[in-house]
Amino acid sequence: MADLLRVHNLSIEYASSRGVVKAVDEVSFSIGKGEIFGLAGESGCGKSTTAFGICRLLRHPAKITGGSVQLAGTELMALSDEEFDRLRWSKMSIVLQSAMNNLNPVLKIRDQLADTILAHEPDARKEVHQRAEHLMRLVDLPVDRLDSYPHELSGGMRQRVVIAMAMALKPSLVIMDEPTTALDVVVQNGIIRKIMELQKEFGFSILFITHDLPLMLEMCDRIGIMYAGKLVEVTAREQILHEPRHPYTQGLLNSFPSLSGPKPRLAGIPGHTPDLIRPPAGCRFYPRCSQAVSQCQTLQPTLLQDKWGQIACHLYSEEGLSREQASAARE
Ligand code: SF4
Ligand code: MG
Repeated sequence: MADLLRVHNLSIEYASSRGVVKAVDEVSFSIGKGEIFGLAGESGCGKSTTAFGICRLLRHPAKITGGSVQLAGTELMALSDEEFDRLRWSKMSIVLQSAMNNLNPVLKIRDQLADTILAHEPDARKEVHQRAEHLMRLVDLPVDRLDSYPHELSGGMRQRVVIAMAMALKPSLVIMDEPTTALDVVVQNGIIRKIMELQKEFGFSILFITHDLPLMLEMCDRIGIMYAGKLVEVTAREQILHEPRHPYTQGLLNSFPSLSGPKPRLAGIPGHTPDLIRPPAGCRFYPRCSQAVSQCQTLQPTLLQDKWGQIACHLYSEEGLSREQASAARE
């Protein structure tokens, strides 16, 4: 599969009163054309910050301190704000958790959709209302809702409008950060089904972010697991479902009862995520890891590629145990 998005060594920091927080630390991954890629991890692990960095929505004091983000070969970090604005919505669109962050409260839905289209296609003026109607149908909303203001719609309807807007210019990548988290389960299911339907129809790639691991495992082709600002494992959905490798991934899976049948007691992961101002010198998961080996405390594992995907853990690196030894050590 050809890569559409390539993120290489992306680092994001922000200053706090106690010091510099390394929120995202040299994160690298790629997303193929038409692929649904998920970023998972506990809150505060850096997954949303990564997404915001990619689409240049970081707010002061957060800033990108290094790395590269390429979309279809274009280096996004090198674009001026103007150039980036041209690309936003047309090549890459964004669906955030709260639709109100995407929608302008004082504009009717019709005008928001029209403005988005016309900002990129000024010649579309004649057909713009027709296109807005088509977009409403695409997300199963009644066309007469085009004349509503955002506050006159339910949360689920607003999120559908945002998805319609994200589709308006047929982007190749849609970034979705917790797109259904604020909604109740029934509404959430309907929207996820709709997203999957649209993805099949138009073939765009998705960077999907959620703390809801079961949902992620249902939707995504490949998944990146983040821990304390680091990407610790990237692998196919099946691999994570059937043989999670990284000790943190295993712990995360054990926190969800429905994934691998009934469990007498939810294991969870004891301890807390580390302070990102002074992260542990070795593996960031070391203080919570029950499988740590001698070098874990002092030596940071690097993300290595093997035939199962990418993994950053001494149990799977040359200095550590082989995969077979690691799996024997777990038994
Ligand atoms: Fe555990 Fe060591 Fe692997 Fe970190 S590198 S997850 S401490 S085994
Ligand atoms: Mg978040």
